[in-house]
Amino acid sequence: MIIEPRIRGFICTTAHPEGCAMNVRQQVGYVAGKGEVPGMAKRVLVLGCSAGYGLASRIVATFGGGADTVGVSFEKSPSETKTASAGWYNNRAFEAQAARAGRKAVTLDGDAFSDEMKAETIKAIAEHLGQVDLVIYSMAAPVRTHPKTGETFRSAIKPLGAPVTVKTLNTDKGEVFETELQPATPEETAGTVAVMGGEDWEMWIAALSAGGVLAPGFKTLSYTYIGSELTWPIYWKATLGKAKEDLDRAAAAIRAEHGAGAARVVSLKAVVTQASSAIPVVPLYGVVLFKVMKEMGLHEGCIEQIDRLFRTVLPGPEALDDAGRLRLDDWELSEPVQAEVKRRWAQISTQTLPELADLAGFRSDFLKIFGFGLAGVDYAAEQDPQVVPAVG
Ligand code: NAD
Repeated sequence: MIIEPRIRGFICTTAHPEGCAMNVRQQVGYVAGKGEVPGMAKRVLVLGCSAGYGLASRIVATFGGGADTVGVSFEKSPSETKTASAGWYNNRAFEAQAARAGRKAVTLDGDAFSDEMKAETIKAIAEHLGQVDLVIYSMAAPVRTHPKTGETFRSAIKPLGAPVTVKTLNTDKGEVFETELQPATPEETAGTVAVMGGEDWEMWIAALSAGGVLAPGFKTLSYTYIGSELTWPIYWKATLGKAKEDLDRAAAAIRAEHGAGAARVVSLKAVVTQASSAIPVVPLYGVVLFKVMKEMGLHEGCIEQIDRLFRTVLPGPEALDDAGRLRLDDWELSEPVQAEVKRRWAQISTQTLPELADLAGFRSDFLKIFGFGLAGVDYAAEQDPQVVPAVG
């Protein structure tokens, strides 16, 4: 079949096997081209390994640091008539590249929130890596079934307290409009914290520790977003921010149990991923931000951020913020960038969008997540969705 993008709102329901493989290959090439990452952990577990920041972390660990990895993600496999999810193809492409580089890469597919997946992962680590020195928690999920109570929680992307009126962007139509967002109920806020907060991260570390697969002196990282005050009404001071605040609590709890350097929350910059595209306001903020950062020569995607994290920030000395976090959002939140974004934000409308923002760049990044629009891929060629492309 000829595979084309089929976009429904902020999701693309098809993925291109060759395009996803190319996407992974390009990220591998970026990291490999920069040479070895000094001091990288050699046995790494990545939770949420198939896309976005988790995939970039796995790539930097293996192709910058020479690490063997176990990865966990929740992806859809292909059928005769339907493509797999992009993350499924990404995982296959990563495994193939890692094998060629002589590195172990074991990927487990299923619900990382469950006790069963934790047990399966511990088994895989014991069998293939012995123990892990680094655990990266890069999950972004809309729903979580609690493993102990069986209760299913959903995350809600809503403000707190009162309705807020915000500018947002219809990325399909290129239209900027104002919308009123209703505040979350206390249950919705608690649900968001249950899905995106720190409890599952703590459960993972407790399970791995009890399973004897955490190496002495191990480290664990979880990713957060704080962002600009322009997005605070729907992010940092909203339901998602409450969940992210809970990561800071969880990090402190893990440090108390496992030692001062054991757990860090890392604040990353806004990038285009499946998770971030679903958040109102964020795509509009993103298109303005990307244009400004590109003009200033400061733009980074997932792979550039994570490469900088492991190559220059993690080796230390640790520069922590007041809440004990590592900050990779320093360029995004720098005064010149934010001053220019705010100046443009005041003027942004459907009419001024082409001049002030980078919608084309956003759309291209969005399509790339699903393997579309990559140079060097023949999109007119017949593809069998069940055939994994050979390593290029
Ligand atoms: P993403 O949507 O690209 O990837 C999410 C990953 O989670 C995928 O590998 C997916 O398979 C996995 N996953 C989801 N549900 C799962 C489940 N039940 N079991 C196993 N795996 C599951 O997301 P992303 O944007 O890379 O986000 C990763 C982290 O980075 C999040 O904590 C997010 O808040 C943070 N972050 C994102 C941004 C951004 O702009 N995208 C900025 C800063 C921080």
